[in-house]
Amino acid sequence: MAAYLEIADDSKGHELSLFCVPKHYEEHLDSVIIPNGLIKDRTERLARDIVRDMGGHHIVALCVLKGGYKFFADLMDYIKTLNQNRDKSVPLTVDFIRLKSYSNDQSTNCVKVIGGDELSALTGKNVLIVERRETEDGGERWCLICGDRASGLHYGIISCEGCKGFFKRSICNKRIYRCNRDKNCQMSRKQRNRCQYCRLQKCLQMGMNRKVLY
Ligand SMILES: [Zn+2]
Ligand SMILES: [Zn+2]
Repeated sequence: MAAYLEIADDSKGHELSLFCVPKHYEEHLDSVIIPNGLIKDRTERLARDIVRDMGGHHIVALCVLKGGYKFFADLMDYIKTLNQNRDKSVPLTVDFIRLKSYSNDQSTNCVKVIGGDELSALTGKNVLIVERRETEDGGERWCLICGDRASGLHYGIISCEGCKGFFKRSICNKRIYRCNRDKNCQMSRKQRNRCQYCRLQKCLQMGMNRKVLY
């Protein structure tokens, strides 16, 4: 049984006119990929699984700010509703923390916890951590080449580990690639390995700097 919903990269989504889309968003959107109702139903089921897995023990729910906030609030609401409608309920405490691992634009490889009560109070408790990976500016960082989750600044641009390694190998080994199509192959996490020529072109186009390697 799948433990998650998979939305294919090439999913066309649903037509906008089928949903109530706020007027000020309308002209900027092409389609609805994940309807809000689907997210809510899925969150409700997650709440049920969590309550079951915690087996009636006290849950300390720890929200990692800021990105996870909305989802966290919804999830807690569902858990509360479940609590009210069951014979057995689970005690629930919530707390909020922030993580900091970036100093300016560079990852320090060291995660600092900011806020929240004394973490030692969590010892021996069932802790539910709700997190959405984020960076200093509150936004996710994605690889400029393939759109995968970025790991930082590499050769001058924000990119993922995969593209960083690919660029390094290509330049250091003086690789010459050929495109079997029209030299404009799509780059995504799943498709990035299909054409090395186009991947390297995109690395250079987006500003990866080969001088850094020489
Ligand atoms: Zn990438
Ligand atoms: Zn290509």
